[in-house]
Amino acid sequence: MKRNSREHLRIKPGVLWFTGLSGSGKSTIAEEIVADLEKQGVDIEYFDGDRVRNMFPNTGFTRQERDEHIRRIGFLASMLEKHGVFVVASFVSPYEEARRFVRDLCGNFIEVYVSTPVQECERRDVKGLYARARAGEIHNFTGVNDPYEPPPAPELTIDTTDISVESACDIVMNYLEKTAVR
Ligand code: ADP
Repeated sequence: MKRNSREHLRIKPGVLWFTGLSGSGKSTIAEEIVADLEKQGVDIEYFDGDRVRNMFPNTGFTRQERDEHIRRIGFLASMLEKHGVFVVASFVSPYEEARRFVRDLCGNFIEVYVSTPVQECERRDVKGLYARARAGEIHNFTGVNDPYEPPPAPELTIDTTDISVESACDIVMNYLEKTAVR
């Protein structure tokens, strides 16, 4: 990745929203992008689903609870964006209606659908959650016993089954470069 050529980009404030199944690669890509943009001096905030849930452990996984959770995060993200912060968010966010709500709140909403199929996510089973969901220990687990609605018109779609983390990040950085203010 030719990072030097990107050092003087003026990234537009916006909300870079990663959606996809657990284990699809959202956080791995998002963390790289955050580190990269921070190095370039971009004023950035990162919201990660697991971290936010650890902070508010009573957030459940029913559709209503998930939607409220996403709407709250989206609202905060849009407020930060208005103050010129570039926001990166990584949430399964399985329902189109809630993602649409966030899109409509934000000025520059960049939706990245990490479309890695459930078979590959389950093969990785990074946190052992698929095995637990299959064993019936976890209910409302997206992709196993809870739905995921693919975004109808995401800005980017990335299937990480056969590509490196670096290639996945390049796809995102190229998009940001294309839309940057020079
Ligand atoms: P999520 O945040 O979507 O739950 P994670 O980022 O925690 O997913 O886990 C994704 C896993 O997939 C990690 O173990 C990561 O190393 C692996 N992986 C393999 N290839 C890629 C890729 N191209 N992009 C992102 N992650 C990848």
